[in-house]
Amino acid sequence: MRDSGKRGYRQILVGRFFSNMAGLDEIFDALYAEGRAPEEDLGSELVKRARVYNYIPRSAESEYAAALLREYRKYWRDKKQGKVSCGCASSRPTWHGIPREEIAWFPILDDSLCDGCGKCVSFCPEKVFEFTEDGSKVYIASPFDCQVGCSSCERICPRKAIAFPPREMLERMTRH
Ligand code: SF4
Ligand code: SF4
Repeated sequence: MRDSGKRGYRQILVGRFFSNMAGLDEIFDALYAEGRAPEEDLGSELVKRARVYNYIPRSAESEYAAALLREYRKYWRDKKQGKVSCGCASSRPTWHGIPREEIAWFPILDDSLCDGCGKCVSFCPEKVFEFTEDGSKVYIASPFDCQVGCSSCERICPRKAIAFPPREMLERMTRH
């Protein structure tokens, strides 16, 4: 049961940009309780429900529908496996006292270079990467599960499709 006094939020990848969205955990809980599986046609329903708490521009509706459906698929899979699925900011450890969601450290993927070999998927211990639905490429499924300061997957990608922010960004953060 979620704390009704606090609405959860998740940061999800919409197209190539992150979007902070409120109320997704509550929406996912309700859909799951209704027995709604993450089928393709659920995208527009997710957009409709998410609009209650969030601004979703009409022009970006299809990108939001795809992103929300992908997020709900993860939630659904975790629930079926008996795992706690929560994207709340408070659910992750802090780094030097800074909330994890305030640190933009995660892989940056050039999907025009990625050929879907899957090396990063099997390599990353934090399960940050997942295959796209058709399995032809990967995407950054759980950016904030990436260990701050780790960049090991950059070296193992044969196509040089993975990059990271400069380390100075982290050094600057610890000085303030
Ligand atoms: S290792 Fe590189 S090329 Fe292979 S799936 Fe990952 S990002 Fe794509
Ligand atoms: S840097 Fe490390 S933790 Fe982050 S995605 Fe790559 S392998 Fe995973």
